[in-house]
Amino acid sequence: DYKPGGYHPAFRGETYNHGRYILVRKLGWGHFSTVWLARDTVTNAHVAMKVVRSDKVYTEAALDEIKLLRRVSTRNGSVEGFYDASKHILNLLDSFNHSGPNGKHVVMVFEVLGENLLALIKKYEHRGIPVMYVKQIAKQLLLGLDYMHRKCGVIHTDIKPENVLMEVGDVEAIVKMVELLDKQKRDQRKFQRRATKTSIDSPTVTANSSRSSTSASLERSTTRRLRRHTLITGSQPLPSPISSTNFFEMKAQMMGQSLPRPMPPSTKNNVNNVNVSGGEEEQITNSLSSLEISTFTDERTEDEVSRELDVIQIKIADLGNACWYDEHYTNSIQTREYRSPEVILGSEWGCSADIWSAACLIFELLTGDFLFEPDEGHSYTKDDDHIAQMIELLGDIPSRLLNTGRHARTFFNSKGQLRNISKLKYWPLKEVLREKYKFSDEDAHNISDFLLPMLSLDPQGRADAGGMVNHPWLDGTVGLEAVKLSDRKLYESGVDIPGWCQEVAGQPRH
Ligand code: ATP
Ligand code: MG
Ligand code: MG
Repeated sequence: DYKPGGYHPAFRGETYNHGRYILVRKLGWGHFSTVWLARDTVTNAHVAMKVVRSDKVYTEAALDEIKLLRRVSTRNGSVEGFYDASKHILNLLDSFNHSGPNGKHVVMVFEVLGENLLALIKKYEHRGIPVMYVKQIAKQLLLGLDYMHRKCGVIHTDIKPENVLMEVGDVEAIVKMVELLDKQKRDQRKFQRRATKTSIDSPTVTANSSRSSTSASLERSTTRRLRRHTLITGSQPLPSPISSTNFFEMKAQMMGQSLPRPMPPSTKNNVNNVNVSGGEEEQITNSLSSLEISTFTDERTEDEVSRELDVIQIKIADLGNACWYDEHYTNSIQTREYRSPEVILGSEWGCSADIWSAACLIFELLTGDFLFEPDEGHSYTKDDDHIAQMIELLGDIPSRLLNTGRHARTFFNSKGQLRNISKLKYWPLKEVLREKYKFSDEDAHNISDFLLPMLSLDPQGRADAGGMVNHPWLDGTVGLEAVKLSDRKLYESGVDIPGWCQEVAGQPRH
């Protein structure tokens, strides 16, 4: 992919935008781009730089992404006396073109963030994140979506754990540490090279948070029948241990100091979050702890630090698939597990599609499992299975969707029955939470009371993000106790929001 039209072959020390940014290290990559840590010589702070592939399609998509990012930018978010929810969306700082051997690349500059929510789910070994944190994430996510939908007319269309990033406390301290470790490694390599006179370059260590559906299903899959009909008891498979040598995980470990440890694994196989195998790994762990001490004992009391770290700040990222309330770019939206019924059935969709995905995401944070994990079988497709799982959890598909869905006839016969799946086992959300995930009666009641309005099968009746911010389940959210949206009503659908459940017709000029 590093060829004309593809990724830019960036390197340490390379300068961008007339020397303003100096490249430090790779942070991650995606289908569209590679993302780099760079130093901004004007502000002397560090930034994340997304360097997009140079092909025409990628360049055009990136220009749309920039327009959408500008619309949701913090500059438009703050209104005196109101909660500024724009801070829950990754903020674009700068954008420009950069020419290289593979062509002209669009570059977007962002603040540096940390791990995404999938990493947090894995940190808790797919057993669910403590409810206190789930509430913080859920409230901020809903505030961010309300801002996007209602104030900006922007639909994200790809809400999922990988696209929600956590903030790190002290970026500059972490960068300092990472640079130190990188230098140590380089020196070590130089030393070894000199000693052996042979080059033993180890591959660049980078992080990529995107997962393909196959790898995800490998990790978590159980067969359809098993998942729907059986209570899975006993321990769940443990995730593979992660290495502490990459940037994201180092940051996660620093954050991890404030998060309660995951439940000790019930098996003897004691998998730690850090794969300490001696030698270099040990050094990294050591310098991590010394850095924590030197960073955090300076000016602030322990109490202040722990209070501050108790609040997980999150930001919605990757507007690469986003669109406008009055200009949809495609109907093929959302990642499979977070895809809404109206999209699968080929009915009209709008902002409310994000609410469906958000509810799936919140369930996943609480339990560590996908809410829907469709699979294909001999006689049915993934879509068939997906719809069947929705019916089992939430009841029959409303007739409005069956009548307006362009693909409805593929899945349902004229009597409104599924063509390819006949035996359904109804298992309502509240019971699933109680029986499978062992929530107390009261918790199961409150959680399903919170999630079900966002899982309305008919997008017209789906609760909007702003109203759900006011839900009593979120009243005690640490750090956001007082945040309420007085102009939205709990459980009310967002039909008054333009583009709520269909593309608004007209001549969009974005
Ligand atoms: P996709 O294939 O998901 O569409 P993409 O090419 O559009 O990817 P992003 O998803 O925006 O790129 O970013 C790729 C990866 O880079 C992210 O998964 C994340 O690991 C990292 N990353 C992106 N933005 C930041 C940031 N602001 N701070 C730190 N890391 C980031
Ligand atoms: Mg992405
Ligand atoms: Mg993208």
